[in-house]
Parts: sequence; C-alpha cells; structure tokens
Amino acid sequence: MKRVFNFSPGPSMLPLEVLQKAAGEMCDTGNTGQSVMEMSHRSKDYKPIIEKTEQLLRELMAIPDNYKVLFLQGGASLQFSMVPLNLAKPGKKAVFIDTGIWSDKAIKEAAKFTAVDVRASSKDRAYTYIPEAPPAKEDDAYYHITQNNTIVGTKWASIPDTGSVPLVSDMSSNILSEPLDVSKFGIIYAGAQKNLGPAGVTVVIIRDDLIGHAGPEVPAMLRYDIHAKEASMYNTPPCFSIYMVGLVLEWLKNMGGIPAIAKLNREKADLFYQYLDNSNLFNSPVEKPFRSLMNIPFVFNPAHKAAENDEKKAELEKLFVKDAASSGLVNLAGHRLVGGMRASIYNAMPIEGVKELIKFMKQFEETQNV
Ligand code: PMP
Repeated sequence: MKRVFNFSPGPSMLPLEVLQKAAGEMCDTGNTGQSVMEMSHRSKDYKPIIEKTEQLLRELMAIPDNYKVLFLQGGASLQFSMVPLNLAKPGKKAVFIDTGIWSDKAIKEAAKFTAVDVRASSKDRAYTYIPEAPPAKEDDAYYHITQNNTIVGTKWASIPDTGSVPLVSDMSSNILSEPLDVSKFGIIYAGAQKNLGPAGVTVVIIRDDLIGHAGPEVPAMLRYDIHAKEASMYNTPPCFSIYMVGLVLEWLKNMGGIPAIAKLNREKADLFYQYLDNSNLFNSPVEKPFRSLMNIPFVFNPAHKAAENDEKKAELEKLFVKDAASSGLVNLAGHRLVGGMRASIYNAMPIEGVKELIKFMKQFEETQNV
C-alpha cells in the first residue's frame, strides 16, 4: 500500500487507523449485515452511530448541556447564510472581523439578509495578522470571527469577550486542534473535511437560547429550530460522513483527547516555523503572534537569488511543488488566490510528515544555493 503525506487544506489526511477500521466494516458495520451506507437513518442500527458521534464530540470538547450539536449539510459555506437567517434582528447589525477570504465570503452572504458592520479588518497588510477586536455594542445582533484562516495561515491568539452579544465562530480549520472554552461562544460551526472527517457533514454547536429566532419565511432546511427539534434528522443526514466523524473522534479520544493532540500540533508547527525562520530560501509571511498551527503558508525569500524576480519565483514554486510530490509530499501549492506554498498539518498529519517535509525543503534549498 502506498500512502503519501498529504498537506492538502481539505479534504485532507485521515488517520490510517480510521480508514482501516472503516474498510474493515465497510460491508458489515457493527454486525448488522449491512454497510453503514445502506442503513436507514432512522433505523435502530444507525441511531447508536449518530448518538455515539455526538456524545464523543460533547465529551472531547466539553460541550455544556445548554448547547445542541447539529450534523448538517451544505458545508461551512451554508452557515454563512444560516447564521444571519437565524440570528439577524431588524434594526441590529451583524458584526464581522474580516481576517481573510473566508471571512469576506461570510460577510458578503450575511449582507444579503442583514445590515453588517465590518468592525475591523487585516486586509491592509494582506491578512497576515489578526486585528484588535473592537468591543461589541449592546445592540449588535451577533459578532462573527473566523478563528483560523485556512488560506493565509493566521489564527486568533485569544478569543474576544463579546459580553451578552453572541460570538459566532467559523472553526472549519481548527476545531479539535487545541483546548477551547465552548461557553464563550454562541455558535461554533465547522465543515468536517479537515479535522473531523470526510466532506459532507457540517458540525454546528449552538447555544439553546439562539435557537428559534428565524422568521417564518426562512426555509425549513435553513432553520436551526427544525434541525434541533428533529435531532439532525429532519431529512436524511449524511450518514456515512457522520459515522466517519465518529471514528475520528474515537481515534482522538484513544490518543488522549484534545490536550494530547494540542501538544502534538504545537510540536509539529514549532518544528516547521523554526525551520522557516532559519531558512535563507523560505519565509513565513505571517506575523508571529498570529501563526496558525494548522495551515502554514510559506514563500520564497525575495532576497534570495533563486527567486529574485516574479518569473524566477513562479518557476521555482512550480518546481518545488512538483519535486515534493515526487517525494510523496503532496498538495503543497498555496491557495490559487494568494499563490506561494502552504503546508496544512491538521490533527491527522503525523509528525514524521512534517519532518520529511523539512528534510525535503533543506535538500531543495541546498540545490538552489549552488
Ligand atoms: N471557512 C473556512 C475557514 C474554510 O477553510 C473553508 C473551506 N476551506 C470554508 C469556510 C468553506 O467550507 P465548505 O467548503 O465546507 O463550505
């Protein structure tokens, strides 16, 4: 079997044990004589699967009892619309902190349904930092942040205190990566395809008092009250993806939960940033206090002769990505909108993958120094 180290921003690597377990029970899940993909979502066979997945998430994240966990579809992108459709209030503004392309998309969707106030932005320095969070105002409808910015590689160093204004956080690319006090948030949402499992399911963690405020015109599928009342079974949920999330959570629990993975994530990221900070050829464009543990963009040092003009730099990027892939280190190209290179090192990336990447980069650097 050939396995590469996959540095994709998502869908991304899954733990091998999880894939093997799923493969082992592909045709007969839990001695039912059926694949989980064939089960009725309302059957007695499937019920324990979704319940166990929710229970593990509650346990690992210490989700308080006054929060519902929903398994929805439509990706994090649909939450860009669902949040305003359910939380916006006439005469009040939805507050956003603009920290990159995903924040911007969330802002543009919300603006279709509500007045928005982009209260701070880091666009002035190409989103390479997280701006100071201005205070919430009493009559703000909610306050939205993108906690980890997948494309530019920044993360909030601390969570803003928004008082009684519900804090809404897109945690698509950092959920389960570090300890978190869920009670600081009104809503947390995340597409699964990075730290939770395969694409197809979106996890929404929502405080009870924020459910039930959508106007009557809001379609059933976009209402938190309906999904909460029906325990994510208003319609057919993404059964297989939810099952896979359950296996990933079990894996995480067995390895010591969030404290253990957070330590490993810190170790992996420190190794990589240390290398970048000492390299003559590669640089991290992100300001130090705001560096993501999950997504690490890097660029060629413009002072290096191998990348002294745009043409040389573009050629070198192509060569780097191609040579890395030949060495089993795949998906290292930066996002198409920002260029450069990026290593996404989510929970399932073993530290060996990061070490292999650094080894490869050192060798690549040597070939450019001659
Ligand atoms: N927010 C963030 C921070 C993301 O990284 C992504 C996807 N990469 C999205 C939202 C969009 O997620 P989806 O594709 O699940 O809609």
